[in-house]
Amino acid sequence: MWNLFEEGSVALVTGGARGIGRAIALELAAQGADVAVNYRGSVNKAESLKEEIEAMGRRALIVQADVRERDNVKKLFKAVKKEFGRLDMLVNNAGIIKDGYLIMMSEESFWSVVETNLGGAFRVTQEALQMMCSARRGAIVNIASTSGVAGQEGQTNYSASKGGIIAFSKAVAKEYAKYGIRCNAVAPGFIETDMTSAKGAAETLKDKYMDLIPLGRFGSPEDVANAAAFLLSDRSGYITGKVLTVDGGLIG
Ligand code: NDP
Repeated sequence: MWNLFEEGSVALVTGGARGIGRAIALELAAQGADVAVNYRGSVNKAESLKEEIEAMGRRALIVQADVRERDNVKKLFKAVKKEFGRLDMLVNNAGIIKDGYLIMMSEESFWSVVETNLGGAFRVTQEALQMMCSARRGAIVNIASTSGVAGQEGQTNYSASKGGIIAFSKAVAKEYAKYGIRCNAVAPGFIETDMTSAKGAAETLKDKYMDLIPLGRFGSPEDVANAAAFLLSDRSGYITGKVLTVDGGLIG
């Protein structure tokens, strides 16, 4: 069977050491790509991921950077340019939740979520586009959420950040299509990772909404990785500015 990606093609996954980002990094490597993985705090997991990718016969680079900080993002791209000299695919995956009801939400809870989830994608995409525009080729996938499509109680900050990611993806798609660059969003529903195992509003919602998932199960990181790989590959070459929900049928 043919791989989805040409040998030597390079992908960058933000927040890739664990959870959905890790599954995406592994799938892209399995499909032929060399992978740069950004992490913020999970250094041990990043190191073990690098070993796993290299065991597949691909090149791997791990770079510590906080996507909230412009100088960190510049450092990340400097490392990618030095190691690989090209960037074919970007996955903006880094994200956080700080759930709570709006009426009690602090400025910090609101803006730190928007700053990481949407601001991070803004900074990273800006740098990536500089590499992709000169190559006149590239594919970007932004990890949104069904909360950003349909809204979710207890998650006004997160829903706003992910709704913003969707609109951002559509605008990037229109602005950079002329450079041969596509940009799409993947909107996962409930996926089993550290994020959804944390206590808080998300945990309560998880129990409540299990019954509403037509496929009758929570998603796996690999479910999301498969969708991301498709949208990064030439098999989706005529798809840009779209949102693919990966939610077992949860939202309409
Ligand atoms: P996890 O909490 O398991 O992982 C979050 C990842 O984001 C970690 O790798 C973390 O890095 C990274 N990260 C967080 N803040 C920063 C930062 N400032 N700079 C760089 N990296 C950062 O979450 P998931 O894997 O579940 O989520 C991944 C993405 O998928 C997120 O965008 C999330 O919103 C989205 N999503 C998840 C859903 C789910 O049900 N799980 C549903 C819908 C969307 P480190 O560990 O190195 O600090």
